[in-house]
Parts: sequence; C-alpha cells; structure tokens
Amino acid sequence: MKILEIEKLNLGFNCENGFRQALYDVSLTLNRGEMLALVGESGCGKTVSAMSILRLLPKNAAITSGAITFESQDILQLKPRDMQHIRGAKIALIPQDPMTSLNPLYTVGDQLLEVIKIHQGLKGKEAFEKAVEAFEKVQIPSAHERLRAYPHEFSGGMKQRAIIAMALACNAEILIADEPTTALDVTIQAQIMDLIENIKKEHDTAILLITHDLALVREQADRIAVMYAGRIVESAPAEEFFAHPAHPYSVALLNSIPSNKGKPLETITGQPPSIQQSIAGCKFHPRCRNCMEICTKEVPQNYPAGVNHFSACFLCDKK
Ligand code: SF4
Repeated sequence: MKILEIEKLNLGFNCENGFRQALYDVSLTLNRGEMLALVGESGCGKTVSAMSILRLLPKNAAITSGAITFESQDILQLKPRDMQHIRGAKIALIPQDPMTSLNPLYTVGDQLLEVIKIHQGLKGKEAFEKAVEAFEKVQIPSAHERLRAYPHEFSGGMKQRAIIAMALACNAEILIADEPTTALDVTIQAQIMDLIENIKKEHDTAILLITHDLALVREQADRIAVMYAGRIVESAPAEEFFAHPAHPYSVALLNSIPSNKGKPLETITGQPPSIQQSIAGCKFHPRCRNCMEICTKEVPQNYPAGVNHFSACFLCDKK
C-alpha cells in the first residue's frame, strides 16, 4: 500500500549567478513495508530529494513545481507547525553522521525521553520504560545504564542504533536513511542494515535508503531507483534490476562493485555534472559508452524496460 508519493518534483537553488535547477520531474512511490533504495553518485540529487520530503532544505532552495503526498496531504502545502508533527514522529531521518542529530551536552537517554514526551505524550516511569524497550529493540546492551551515557561514550554504530531507537519510539511510519552506514566499518554496516531490515519487517515501516553503494542494498532493497544529475534514470524491482539493468549508468555502477566476481572492476570516467553545468540532451552522454547522436540533442523519456521497470535511455525506445 502506497504511503508516500513524490510527483514530478522540480527544485532549484538561487545561486549568485542565477537560478540553477537541481531536480527534474522527480517521481517516486514508497509503499508500506518496503525498502526503496535511491542510488547514485554524490551530487546526483538523492539527499536533496529526501530533504524535500522532510522540508529541511537550504534557504536558497526553491521548489518550482510538484507534489509530495503523505497520508492524503501534500507535505509541500503544510504549515511549518503541522510539518513539525510529521517530521520525527511519522517520518524520521537516520543521517549519515548521527552526531548531527545527537546533542553532545545531554545524555542519550534524556534526548530519547524528550522525543517520547513530545511525540507520544508519555512522562516519568512510562516514558522510561518506553525508552528501555526502544534501546532493547535496537540491541543496545545494558539499556538502563546506556541511557545515562553521553553521545561521546557511544561508538559510531551505537549512536546510529540510538537514532534508530528514537524513530522506533515514535512509531515512525517512514524511515529515511541517508547513507546510514558510510561512517561505519564493514561488520557494523551489516548489523545496521540487518536492524533496518528487521524494523521494516516487524513494524511494516517504509524505508527510503539513500546510498551510493549498490552492493550494500543488493540483499535487502525491494526496489531500486537510480538517480543521475537530478533525474531518476531507472527504476525497477530489485531482482529485475540486478538481473537486467537497462540504463548505461546503472550498468556502469554495477560493473564498479566488487560483487561481480570474475569480471575486472570498472570505473566510470568523469564526474556527474554540477548544477552550474548545462548539458544538452541526456545528461549522462559525456560519460556514456553507448552515446548516439540523438543523445547529445534530445532528452530521453522514460521507456518501459520490463515489468514495473523503466529506463530514461534511447536504447530502450523500441518505436
Ligand atoms: Fe547513453 Fe544515450 Fe542512453 Fe543517455 S540516452 S544513457 S547517452 S545511450
């Protein structure tokens, strides 16, 4: 069942040299109990898409058109006060660096209790029990003692668990995880990914996972959306995507991860364009091995590439 829908979102930034568009007709659907991985290199527009959902955009950002529907209301039209009830309580963020969400001056327990008080209206013993329960659910050992610790006394993985506990304590319906494991070592990465997966299954939570790392989401994502230069260039169920990637950018990303055993690893030459660069036609064309003349002149539409699968590439235009 659909819980969140982004429809044709266009967004840009007011820069010193004028308005620069950063998102182009971004459309995404998130269903209850599914993990959607939004994948692409840094600077492709993944984080700004997610921050649009939370309405946590820089001051110079401007949404020029589009809608973001959550529980039948357009988030973009809500008053700031109404948005505060959604942010944190119904849609929670797991950031790349948990210290951006934890205040170093207060114990982790105080911060968790504050969240429980604001979003669940619980106080005293009831709130404390809820906090212990949340810590136990995210497998933080000795929950009673750890609630009295300060953020600097937690490891990176434990801090991420505490942030996830806050989302759990509020019964958040959507978790937006923005590169949640980038700062962690490989073993802890796997544990945090398993934890997010368990929350999805046990609570029917919808997860929007933002990552540059396709290997990380191979086992757990239900659907993949690939973003390049502010546009969704491919979207497909995960199994279909990994078996039959259609967009040359997706193929290049897949060829650059170590899991393709036996094949030499490839790199993608060049960099994604900045929003200051104007590129005609398909924005991937300067880096694309399959580039044709039409690609330098026209913008490809979304063409069907399988069941619930599209690719914004002229190679999929079968007309
Ligand atoms: Fe490459 Fe052309 Fe497809 Fe763009 S439209 S990805 S340049 S083949």
